[in-house]
Amino acid sequence: MAAEVIYGKQLAEDLRLEMKEEIAELSKEGVHPKLVVVIVGEDPASKSYVKGKQRASEKIGMASDLIELSAETSEDELLHIINQLNEDKAVHGILVQLPLPQQIDEQNVIEAIDPSKDVDGFHPINAGRMLTGQETFYPCTPFGILVMLKRAEVSIEGKHVVIIGRSNLVGKPVGQLLLNEHATVTHCHSRTKNLREHTKRADILIVAAGKAGLITGEDITEGTVVIDVGVNRVDGKLTGDVDFESAKEKASYITPVPKGVGPMTITMLLHNTIKAAKWIDQK
Ligand code: NAP
Repeated sequence: MAAEVIYGKQLAEDLRLEMKEEIAELSKEGVHPKLVVVIVGEDPASKSYVKGKQRASEKIGMASDLIELSAETSEDELLHIINQLNEDKAVHGILVQLPLPQQIDEQNVIEAIDPSKDVDGFHPINAGRMLTGQETFYPCTPFGILVMLKRAEVSIEGKHVVIIGRSNLVGKPVGQLLLNEHATVTHCHSRTKNLREHTKRADILIVAAGKAGLITGEDITEGTVVIDVGVNRVDGKLTGDVDFESAKEKASYITPVPKGVGPMTITMLLHNTIKAAKWIDQK
């Protein structure tokens, strides 16, 4: 039986409508959530991501600023700007688009952002809070995946989740979030032996390797829930890490690329910014 396709795009639109109403309500109380995105350099993919983030925030009535810095910007200059944004009471969320040019240490930048404005959820304090099961900003892509699974009413508790990937951005945090939801979690990576033995044992398979076509229908068992996080460009076309056509014949649920996980990432960024504004307002 062919899988049910989970369209993150539709869910993202529904959630953004709810957020638009929430922002209108908050503004009546004098709270105006504001996101500032900082981009360093001219990378076309990064530029297109930040434009998407800005458009999405404007559409729901969220204030947003874009700070564009030259590729030659020094680490000190960037840290100075982050300090100013940390101090600015009108700013609730700060996002520095990664990757950064070579002369800037990404970890220093991540750690310079005030954890209460870290809407990407990458600061070690927020990562630690998530690790210890506390309420915090969760990284947007993993959080989006969790929300997709919940909205599709996929049960997580006691299920075996196999994740291909162990990056700080996607693999590790999505594993942590699902462990917090009582899943049994296996992480696979480039040194994993006999990958298929692991993927075949998954109730939920999350593929975040950045390798087009890594997983096909042959790698899964009947009824697996397949979440494809990969974004690859093959012959000018966007494609995921999963061969959608063969996998959908066996999966119970599957996400497409595009229109799957991607739109949820920006949506959770907006969610985190609203959360930051509410937290700061309560202080
Ligand atoms: P990453 O930092 O390159 O990590 C890739 C992970 O996959 C690593 O842990 C790597 O193992 C593992 N891996 C690579 N090839 C493998 C293979 N053949 N077999 C098993 N494991 C393998 O990438 P990332 O930042 O996590 O992103 C992963 C993918 O998701 C990319 O395509 C990225 O574009 C996409 N992405 C999408 C969104 C979205 O919103 N849709 C957001 C973020 C990322 P090692 O650790 O051993 O190297």
